[in-house]
Amino acid sequence: MKANRVARTGLIIAAAVLAAPVVVAQDGPTRSIVELTDGLYRAQNNNHHVTFLVTDEGVILADTINTEFSEWLKGEIQSRFGVPVRYVLYSHHHWDHANGGGVFADTAQFIAHENFPANLVLPPADTPLPANAAELDANGDGQIDSSEATGNFANSLHLYDVDGDGMINGAEATRGALNEVRAPDIVFKDRMTVTLGGKSVDILYVGNMQHTDDMSVVLFPEERAVFMVDYISLGRVPFQTIAANRLDALLNSIRMVEFLDFDIASPGHGVVGDKSSVAAYRHYLEQLRDEVAAGIAAGMSVEQLQESVTMDAYSDWINYENWRPLNVLGMYNLLTNEPY
Ligand SMILES: [Zn+2]
Repeated sequence: MKANRVARTGLIIAAAVLAAPVVVAQDGPTRSIVELTDGLYRAQNNNHHVTFLVTDEGVILADTINTEFSEWLKGEIQSRFGVPVRYVLYSHHHWDHANGGGVFADTAQFIAHENFPANLVLPPADTPLPANAAELDANGDGQIDSSEATGNFANSLHLYDVDGDGMINGAEATRGALNEVRAPDIVFKDRMTVTLGGKSVDILYVGNMQHTDDMSVVLFPEERAVFMVDYISLGRVPFQTIAANRLDALLNSIRMVEFLDFDIASPGHGVVGDKSSVAAYRHYLEQLRDEVAAGIAAGMSVEQLQESVTMDAYSDWINYENWRPLNVLGMYNLLTNEPY
């Protein structure tokens, strides 16, 4: 890592000498490691977080985020604790939480829900581009090339591009940016306990609430902590249009976590909380549901509801300004059965 930093500094100096005005290099990702309780840590990569338990015989790590972060984390774990990562437990297969596991493949076994492997498989070759990709296909050839790609299709083209032809076809776009997701060695159905160095960790399936069909939470019983991702965030409003189309299933999957025995809630997104923080996230969804339902019953439009359903009690939550109106739209669609 040190060599990389030196090399990058050299490039910045070279650029500054050759080009005027000086181009300020973008800052790297924000990374940190904080101890939650004895032996249990939360590591950050910008807005994404993982959690890991250190034992005498190695580390049990929940989620990997991406290859660059995993390489950094592997070095940090080695230098701080001097033990290898022995298990990687996946919350779910999505690209922004599950890429990078190959970094740990020399020492770790990988565990995920039994629905996980099928989500890594490419769909049939004639699968059309999904809507968010089709709108980028300027030349209409059914593929996204590097000149057409924007956003995550541009940033992660190499993670979509299974056949390595430099383009994203419909099957690749539909599967997602999963090229660096290491498949699990072990899958489980409902619940599995991993023991290492005299400690135990449980991974529990929380049901299909439609964010994905392979979502699990990781419980650290001795540490009285739980790690949960995406379908529960803490101190942050739900992602955009909520990413669910089965509201009762979503609420039940949240309640399932509330039934667990823990004091520390360590989310993939947002801030560390406790059991009441998990309940608060559910209460947000329930209040949103009730107020949007009342508005629909009163004949209000989506635009009117986005004005009136202000969810003021949550105004200090992360992304309240940007995502609350999208949350209202998502809830409106959920309650009126509009396609998500
Ligand atoms: Zn996700």
